[in-house]
Amino acid sequence: MPLTPEQQKEAMRRIAAARSEPGSPIACPACGADGLQIIDRSARPHAQWYALTCPACGLAETLHIPMGSSVHTLD
Ligand SMILES: [Zn+2]
Repeated sequence: MPLTPEQQKEAMRRIAAARSEPGSPIACPACGADGLQIIDRSARPHAQWYALTCPACGLAETLHIPMGSSVHTLD
């Protein structure tokens, strides 16, 4: 099931938090369980891509963050 826009915003917040605290567990934006896995597939400086997978609920989402607009919320 795809993430809702609200869940995508939550996911972006959690990615930002994970970047400032590497190694800390990340809660899934869909089911709330710890253990969300984030793979940074970004092609900087053009875009940021994050592949999100959650073993608890089976979430498999790719977040695409275009550079230059909402990216400021991550930095
Ligand atoms: Zn989940």
